[in-house]
Order: sequence, then C-alpha cells, then structure tokens
Amino acid sequence: MTTLKHTLYVVATPIGNRDDLSGRAIKTLNDCHCIYAEDTRHSRPLLQYHGIETQIRSLHEHNEAGRADIIISQLRTDGSVAIISDAGTPLISDPGYRIVRACQDADIPVSPIPGASALITALSVAGVATDRFLYAGFPPAKSAARVAWLSEFADQSCTIVLYESPHRILASLGDIVQVFGREREMTLARELTKRFETVIRASSEEVLRIVEQDAQQQRGEFVLVISGKKDRLANSPDQTEITELLKTLLKHMPLKTAAKVASELTGAPRKQVYEVGIGLNKSD
Ligand code: SAM
Repeated sequence: MTTLKHTLYVVATPIGNRDDLSGRAIKTLNDCHCIYAEDTRHSRPLLQYHGIETQIRSLHEHNEAGRADIIISQLRTDGSVAIISDAGTPLISDPGYRIVRACQDADIPVSPIPGASALITALSVAGVATDRFLYAGFPPAKSAARVAWLSEFADQSCTIVLYESPHRILASLGDIVQVFGREREMTLARELTKRFETVIRASSEEVLRIVEQDAQQQRGEFVLVISGKKDRLANSPDQTEITELLKTLLKHMPLKTAAKVASELTGAPRKQVYEVGIGLNKSD
C-alpha cells in the first residue's frame, strides 16, 4: 500500500518484542518525512533495528501543544509525518491527541497504522469476559484517591482494565482487594511479549499473595484485568427476589417490559431475567 503524501500517520509500535512492528508500520515510518517520538532515545534502537533512517524529533506531553503548528506546516510543505510513542498505540495513555485534533481541524488527513496495545494484548490472554470492558488507565498515585477511584468501578458488571507501574503494584493490588473484595477474579498480565512475560488469573487476594511473596513479580510493566461484578441472579437467594419481582410486574405489563424493568432494578442481565419470565409464563 502506498504511503499517502501530507498525511499524519499514528503508528503503533511494539510493547516489548521488537519484531511486533508490522510491515506496514515499517514502510510508513521509512516513507515519512519525519517521525515524532515520545522519547527519541527510547525509539531510536527500534528504528535502527528495522533499518529506518527517517529523521526523528521529540513529541511528549510537555511540548505537544507547541509542536502542533510546526507539524502542520511540515505536513503541508514537506510530506507525511508519523507519531509514535514509547510503546504500543499512541494516544492510549500516551501523548498525541492534541496533534491529531489540530490536524483534523486543519483538514489534514489522519490515518492509523494499528498494532500492539498493552490493554488489548492483556485482554487477549486474560481468560475473562471481553465482550464488554472499561479501560480506566492508570489509578491515582495516593492510596486514598486510588480507593475512591477504584470504588467507582466496583459495581460495574463489565471487565475493568487498568495500567500500573512497578512502584505501586503492591499498593494498588492491596486497594483492589479492599474495594472489589477478596474473591473478585482478576488477571495480572506482566511484561507481555517480553522475556519474563507472566499471566496470572486468580482471585484478587491470591494475586496479591503471589506478588507479595515474589519480588520478581513486582518488576516490569503491568496490566490488571478485573472481572466485572457477577450478576445477582447467579446467587440462588436473589433468584427468588427476581422471580417475585417479575410475578408482580407481569400483572401489569408484557414480559419484554417486565424483564427490562426487573433487570434495571436488580442489576441482573435482561436476557436472564427474560428467561426466568418465560419459565413463569409457562408455569401459569
Ligand atoms: N500506549 C501504550 C499502549 O497502547 O498500551 C500504553 C502506554 S502507558 C504510558 C504504559 C503502560 O502500559 C505501562 O505502565 C503498563 O501499565 C502498560 N504496558 C506497556 N507495555 C506493557 C507490557 N509489555 N506488559 C504489560 N503492560 C504493559
């Protein structure tokens, strides 16, 4: 595929294994007039490894706003520009969003070159439901703020994905146990695509215990994938509650509406409530 002229390319780079840079990414980075990287010293070895000789400049959170005009003028006069971050997909907990917006506002084409992202890579091996998930980014650094922040997600029924650094992994796991409970299933994905890649799926308490007892497990980069809160229908005592609620509702409305209302009131998935309702209708 031809690299277009005067286009901003948002290029994903590997999250560890250098060979995960796609063929299209290599071609685009070679063809561009200039590559803007979060940390030029960090990205240079990757570019050299792939034989990419394009000039490289810095684009990080502290100079991003000021770079927009220069990048737009380069895009108009010199050719295409690529932005990359230290690892994974730019803009995902990484700089780049101001440049993308500025280019869109200036009617300059913006095109993605997709590749790795730690959150999607972690989800692909987490062994938890991935049909619906909430990416929450990095938790706050201080425990009180982190507990309050985590509490916002404690009742979510979808999977929650967080990033965490080695300095705070133990403290964050401790807070997860406190907020989500000891039994909440979760997956710790560490050093993905690297030599010490580790994926642990267990209860939050067990994950904390494993990481506490092994200093090696406290090193590197982490994605934490926390299972959503299980529906209350799965616990037999609440099945009775749903059934009774449905019986009352069905006196006043059709099954479809009753299932919707009961689902909203109890937090149980509508499909399961509907099936309970079908059972009730049959037994009438
Ligand atoms: N833009 C990146 C992406 O698409 O995933 C994320 C950048 S964010 C600043 C860096 C964080 O991503 C790390 O602190 C860690 O939580 C996570 N991460 C990056 N590489 C990882 C890896 N190989 N294994 C596990 N987590 C990783």
